[in-house]
Amino acid sequence: MSNKENCKFQTEISELLNLIINSLYSNPEIFLRELISNASDALDKLKLESATNESLLPQGYTPEIFITTDPDKNTISISDNGIGMTLDEVKENIGTIAHSGTKKFMQIKDELKDNPSLIGQFGVGFYSAFIVADKVCLETKKAGTDKAVRWESDGKSEYTIEEIDKDSIGTTVTLYLKDKNNEENQDLADFTKEWKIKDIVKKHSDFIAYPIKMECEKFVPQSKEDEEAGKEPEKTKEIQVLNSMKALWLKKPSEITKEEYNEFYKQMTYDYSEPLLNIHFQAEGVSEFTALLFIPSQKPFNYDYENVESGLSLYVKRVLIMNDCKELITPYLRFIKGLVDSSDLSLNVSREILQQDRELKQINKSLVSKILKSLQDLMNKDRETYEKFWVNFGPTLKEGIVRDPERKEKIIGLSLFKSNNNQDKYISVDEYISNMKEGQPCIYYITAENISEAQNTPFMERLNKKGYDVLFMLDPVDPFIVNALGTYKDKKFECITSSDLDIDTEEEKKENETKIKEKTENFSDLLSNIKDELKGYVDDVKFSSRLSDSPVCLVKEGPDFKQMEYFYKQIGQAVPKQKACLECNLDHPIFDKMKSKDVDTQKNWAWILYNQALISQGEKIDNPNEFCKKIIDLMN
Ligand code: ADP
Repeated sequence: MSNKENCKFQTEISELLNLIINSLYSNPEIFLRELISNASDALDKLKLESATNESLLPQGYTPEIFITTDPDKNTISISDNGIGMTLDEVKENIGTIAHSGTKKFMQIKDELKDNPSLIGQFGVGFYSAFIVADKVCLETKKAGTDKAVRWESDGKSEYTIEEIDKDSIGTTVTLYLKDKNNEENQDLADFTKEWKIKDIVKKHSDFIAYPIKMECEKFVPQSKEDEEAGKEPEKTKEIQVLNSMKALWLKKPSEITKEEYNEFYKQMTYDYSEPLLNIHFQAEGVSEFTALLFIPSQKPFNYDYENVESGLSLYVKRVLIMNDCKELITPYLRFIKGLVDSSDLSLNVSREILQQDRELKQINKSLVSKILKSLQDLMNKDRETYEKFWVNFGPTLKEGIVRDPERKEKIIGLSLFKSNNNQDKYISVDEYISNMKEGQPCIYYITAENISEAQNTPFMERLNKKGYDVLFMLDPVDPFIVNALGTYKDKKFECITSSDLDIDTEEEKKENETKIKEKTENFSDLLSNIKDELKGYVDDVKFSSRLSDSPVCLVKEGPDFKQMEYFYKQIGQAVPKQKACLECNLDHPIFDKMKSKDVDTQKNWAWILYNQALISQGEKIDNPNEFCKKIIDLMN
C-alpha cells in the first residue's frame, strides 16, 4: 500500500524486546494473559466512553474477546471489539517508550541485563507476544472513526504501519507463532491447540468480566445404529465461552449470599467444609484493591507439622498473577485463605519484585489491620465461633506478639487462655483484668506442658492463698512469646516462677522481711548444713515467703526459667546452666523439726527435700532409686 510507513523502534524498545524474550522465555504462556488483559482494558474504556457518547457503539453491540487459531498457518489471534486505537495512538503506545513503566526501564536497563527478573516491574504487556511469535500483526479501528490501522513487526528493530480497511471497531492481534520444527523452539507448547488455549484461559483469565470466546470442536451426537456400527462420530464446530467471568469478589458483599461465598471458598481451596468466617472488603485511598478472605473452620491436616503453602492469590484486575503470594500476608496470619485483586499493580509483577514492592507492603499492612479488626468483631459478637477459631489458629496468631511489636497489644487482646480459676473455659486477658483482686499488681502466668502441671506446681500456692488467678501458657509456641508480653493496658505480665516475683503489698513485704531475717538468724546452722549437702546442686539456700504449703521449691535465675527450659527443649538443645536457689518455706514446721536433729540427719533430709522439690515441679531427678530407698528408710 502506498501509505505504508517503515519505522524504527526506539533503541530502548529493541533492547526491552530482547530482554523480555530472554527473561520470560521460561513462562511463555503469559503472552495470552497479557493480550487478553489489554483486550479487556479496551472493552472497559469503550464502556466508559460510551456511557456519555452512545453513538460510539455499533448496533446490537455486545462486548467480547475472540480467540482464533489456525494450525495450518501456525497463528493465533486475539480480537476485541473495544475502544481501538488511531494511527497516532498505535505509534505512541506500541512503538515508543511512552508509559511510565518503560520509562523506568530506561533508567535501570543496565541493571536489568544482570538481573533479568527485574523485568516484572514493567508493563511488558503487548511485547510479550514476541516470546512466542516471530511476527506480530495488530489491526485496530478506533470507535467513532472510520479509518483503521495495521501495525506489523518481527520484534527486532523495525515495524511497519499503514492505513487499512476494517469493518468493525476494536483490535485484532495476530501472532505468527515460532516454528516448532526449529530446534530452538522445540520447548514451546503448541498454542494453536484448542485444549491448550482453554487451559491457559481457565488458569489465568477465568474471571475476566467479558466473555472470551473461541470456535471449538464438538462431536455430533450419533444415532444408535451408527454407534453400534462402530462409526466414527462426526465433528462440528461451535462457539464456546472459555471463562466463567464470575469474579465474586467484585460484587457488593450485600449482594452475595452465604452459599455463594461458601461455594467459592470450596472451589478455591478444595476444602470440603464451610469456612468459619469470610472477610470481604474494598480498600480505597493509598492503594486500591479488593480482598476476599476466609478463615477455614478446620485446620488443614498437615498444618502443624508441615510447612504448608501459605499466602493469598494475587490478581491484578481479575487476572490471576500467582497463587500462594506470601508477600501479601504476614506469617502469623498464614491460616487465612483467599485472594487480593489490585488495580494498581502491574500485570507482570514477578516474585523478586514482590518482595520489594511498596504497593504490596501497603496492601499487606491494610490486610493485617482489617483481619485483626474482623477477629475482634467476631470475638465480641460470637464468642463461640471465635473460640473455635482460637483452638485451631490461636497458636499461630500468638506468634504476632513476637513478630509484630506494633500490633502486640491488639494481638494480646485477641488471645484466649485457660487459667487456674478457669480450667474448663477460655478467658481473655481483659476478662482476667476485670476479675483481678483489689491491689493485685500484675497479670500472673505460668508456662507448663499441661493443666495439671500448671495447677499443681508449688509456685501456685501463694497466689491461690491471695486469690490471684494465673493464666496458663500451655501451647508449644508460648515459651517463645512470653518474653515479648511485657505489659498490656499498663499491667505487667509476670511469671509466677520468676526469681524476683512481685506479689506482696508494701506492708506484707516489710513484715516478711523481718520474719525472714529472724528465721535466717535462728536457723543459720541448719541453712549452712543444707547448703553444704547440696553443693553442686544449688547455688544458694534461703528462707522466703513464696510458698504456703510445700516446704521448699527450686527457683532458678531469670524472669521465667520454666520458659527457658521449654524453649531449649523445643529447639532440641541442652538447657544452659542457670543459678539455682532452694527457697525454704518460712512457716513450714519441718524446719523446726530438722533443727533438732543431728547434722547427718539434717543432710539426709536436705537431699530428700531437694529431690522432692524437683519432682513436684515436674522435673526429673538424677537418682530415683536412691530417693525411694531413703523414703523407705524414713518410713522404717
Ligand atoms: P500496558 O497494557 O501495560 O499499558 P502494553 O504494552 O500491553 O502495556 O500496551 C500499551 C498500550 O497499548 C496500552 O496501554 C493501550 O493503550 C494500548 N493497547 C494495547 N492493546 C490494546 C487493545 N487491544 N486495544 C486498545 N488499545 C490497546
